[in-house]
Amino acid sequence: MAVPISQMWTVATYVIRKKLSGEKKYPLVLMLEPLFRCNLACAGCGKVQYPPHILKKELSPEECFAAVEECGVPMVSIPGGEPLLHKQIVEIVNGLIARKKYIYLCTNALLLKERIHEFTPSKYLTFSVHLDGQREHHDMSVCREGGWDLAVEGIKEAVKRGFRVTPNSTFFDGTDPNMVRAYFDEVMALGVEGIVLSPGYSYDKAPDQQHFLGRAKSRRLFRAILSNRKKSWKFNMSPLFLEFLMGKRNYECTAWGSPAYSIFGWQKPCYLLQDGYTETYKELVETTNWDEYGTGSGNPKCANCMVSCGYEPSAVQHGFGSLSGFIGMAKAFLFSTYKDKGALDLLNNHSTFAAQHDHFVKVESITPATTAQLEETRA
Ligand code: SF4
Ligand code: SF4
Repeated sequence: MAVPISQMWTVATYVIRKKLSGEKKYPLVLMLEPLFRCNLACAGCGKVQYPPHILKKELSPEECFAAVEECGVPMVSIPGGEPLLHKQIVEIVNGLIARKKYIYLCTNALLLKERIHEFTPSKYLTFSVHLDGQREHHDMSVCREGGWDLAVEGIKEAVKRGFRVTPNSTFFDGTDPNMVRAYFDEVMALGVEGIVLSPGYSYDKAPDQQHFLGRAKSRRLFRAILSNRKKSWKFNMSPLFLEFLMGKRNYECTAWGSPAYSIFGWQKPCYLLQDGYTETYKELVETTNWDEYGTGSGNPKCANCMVSCGYEPSAVQHGFGSLSGFIGMAKAFLFSTYKDKGALDLLNNHSTFAAQHDHFVKVESITPATTAQLEETRA
């Protein structure tokens, strides 16, 4: 587990305070999108599809601070777009640090080496660098040759200067779990604090819809990736959420736990779907019909979703807000390797299959016997 004790303590006491106060719907992480503009155009991204007049707009530092103060979260994730293209990003980051918020600044790192001197290392600031696997896979994913090399240069510089860095990866259908495990070795050797990962998810606006993962495929993929873990791998995520990805736990969506705020306002119901906007977080919570969302709702837009913005808050609330969750987290710390013979078979069979085919094969295309043995999902 890579999350520093001070951050865990802040989140744990926040969850316990909310539980004691009886508040049912509260946010944990604000997804603050200060702009949608980016210097990449990844195939899976719905943000950069906006028309030019929207891409030119930015939230001001004051608008960012007002959103953070209104919802009162302990953590702020700043995706985009590319936040390093925002003219006042340093002011926004410094203002949030002054408010003692734990910030994950999500960047593709193309500009990280160039701009890193403008930031000051702090326990509150983490650069969350978009890296989708090893060099070839990442460059293909972000549609930019040389993207990996630039990002890695940025990571090395940030680590050298004493910043917290977490590579942040999204894996789509077709990902080779062996490649992902080799990628873990590679990034941990760069000196990063821990890894963040998520299954590919479907934006209505994203142009490449065919490679988003279904739930059953996600669980198979993450079981193969995250079982039989090496001690050197650290994850900057809830261990219960990782177990959820592996198919060991089931959670309902807690979309209000990671609300998204952008130039349009507070997005209903979550970071992924756009069913309208509200002016305040309070209005978002009170006017959204939450029963219409989450996999249990039958809403087809949510049917395959396992993403962290919906399900990691559920895992965090379970972990810090109940005895069973706390015991689950303690077990995850103590028995962190997750030995699993079936998952090894899945890796080995994938290697055999991949050796005979193109490297970019589908996870579900392994041998029928292994598929039957490992099919454990209900989705
Ligand atoms: S780097 Fe991020 S914001 Fe930019 S195009 Fe890629 S996914 Fe979208
Ligand atoms: S299940 Fe996913 S898409 Fe649906 S509301 Fe939750 S986070 Fe959003």
